[in-house]
Amino acid sequence: MKRTIQTRLLEFEEEEQKKPPKVVVRKRQREKGQIWRKTTRDGGKWGVIRFDGTVLFVRVIDGQIFAHGVEALCKWCEGKLEIRDEKVFCKGKCKKFQGDFARDLSAYLRWEGAKSFTLRKEIAKEEKLYLESRDLEPMSYAPDWSAFDQYEEEEEF
Ligand SMILES: [Zn+2]
Repeated sequence: MKRTIQTRLLEFEEEEQKKPPKVVVRKRQREKGQIWRKTTRDGGKWGVIRFDGTVLFVRVIDGQIFAHGVEALCKWCEGKLEIRDEKVFCKGKCKKFQGDFARDLSAYLRWEGAKSFTLRKEIAKEEKLYLESRDLEPMSYAPDWSAFDQYEEEEEF
């Protein structure tokens, strides 16, 4: 169901973008690729964590969580972390709860790993995630393209 709506929306946008010359369109796509640096295509197991409001794609190797290639450790005691179902706990000294974990990568959008409409769509396309229903609404509040180019760099990943 969602797939169908998404496809239709993309077709609609292609219609909209026919006006600019092709060179401009290609340039824009390359810039967008730089804004969203893909992570999950390196193979292996991936998931999404949400620690204190920070949402990240993470790689899971032997049950350990790696963010940006570095093993995530307990923020209180620097102990190793353990994923139990959809939660992450310290398995070092303090045993404290660290945050949420999801194997479903679409959680990245559900948990607002990206907030801007344009970026969410870009990530969904690149990582093959399901967009939330609110992302499929008409483009009335989508940022102007020029404003997008200026401000999007401030997003953190
Ligand atoms: Zn700890």
